[in-house]
Amino acid sequence: MASLAFEHIEKIYPGGTQAIFDCNLAVADGEVLALVGPSGCGKSTLLRLLAGLDDATRGQLRIGGEVVNDLPPQRRNVAMVFQDYALYPHMTVRGNLEFPLKMRDLPRADIARQVAWAAELLGLGELLDRLPRQLSGGQRQRVAMGRALVRQPAAFLMDEPLSNLDARLRVQIRAELSELLDRLGATTLYVTHDQAEAMTLGDRVAVLDRGRLQQVAPPQELYERPTNTFVAGFIGNPPMNLFPARLNAAWDGGLQLRLGQQSLPLVLPPATEEHWRAWLDKLLTAGIRPEHLRLAQDDEQGVWTTVSDAEYLGHETLLHVRVDGLDPPGAALVARLPGIRPFHKGEAVRLSLDAARLHGFGPDGAALDGFR
Ligand code: ADP
Repeated sequence: MASLAFEHIEKIYPGGTQAIFDCNLAVADGEVLALVGPSGCGKSTLLRLLAGLDDATRGQLRIGGEVVNDLPPQRRNVAMVFQDYALYPHMTVRGNLEFPLKMRDLPRADIARQVAWAAELLGLGELLDRLPRQLSGGQRQRVAMGRALVRQPAAFLMDEPLSNLDARLRVQIRAELSELLDRLGATTLYVTHDQAEAMTLGDRVAVLDRGRLQQVAPPQELYERPTNTFVAGFIGNPPMNLFPARLNAAWDGGLQLRLGQQSLPLVLPPATEEHWRAWLDKLLTAGIRPEHLRLAQDDEQGVWTTVSDAEYLGHETLLHVRVDGLDPPGAALVARLPGIRPFHKGEAVRLSLDAARLHGFGPDGAALDGFR
């Protein structure tokens, strides 16, 4: 397959909406890059520019190293898969799979061979004579994939291809799709608003907010070292807890985190302590993932909070609390606690945190030195 690249791409729609700002993004040959961000951030715009369905205002688009800005869509040799599948309702599965090949006037034997190959790969063999309305949502999705596949394109461009499926099926098809893309070594740009989908499918994930790329990194790096508060608050379910805080030096010279009237001594690894010290007495945004909060043991320092809600999920409990003594009240936190333990609204709970896992962000939202 082929690599893809956006170089200094900008898109201003007629009417003046600037949807994309100076986007530089490359997808390596064989890589699955998941492009994720909230609705309206410009994901589909980027995909459409690469497919040739719309023109870039500035910058260069490359497929396989070649600049394609001026090539019509049919000559860009990319296959798009949309959420609505767009199968031809009056054609059988076989007819749908053959269609893009017939459009290219391929010899009948080649068409039959490629359809058989895609049907085998996607487990569609039994379904070839059915009409789309005789298929389940998941099966229709696979036919749409098959139709993209038979053309043996340079790359796949997928726009929320699983969002019409119910939650359980989505997880199942997501795993199948991931395995299939791996097996094919298929260069894929995969657009989704669902961070879990992006994290499970992408070799790397690109996070977009209001037309600007925020961070492009492998899933683990994105999770562990978010570059700013937007990424920290978007990735993870529930996402990272973010709250205003100050760092003080305690009487013994150690560091403590101040949350309103409360303070929590931080036992930090030496490498990060040095970075935190640069922020003594300044207001910053602290971040902690829900799984790095825990109920404080009797001999442990903690922050007093009040329970506002508890979600019992069986294997874990998501505990929603508010930090006590803040004025105005704010700093709602979510703690992910293993197993089930009953809590009631208004209950006082002391939480402690894993200080080595604490993140810091400056006033502009960017991660502090040592945390990106
Ligand atoms: P996403 O796919 O992330 O939901 P889009 O790429 O569809 O976002 O849209 C990005 C921005 O561009 C939005 O503000 C949207 O309203 C605007 N936009 C999209 N298409 C058009 C268009 N044809 N004309 C004008 N504005 C558009």
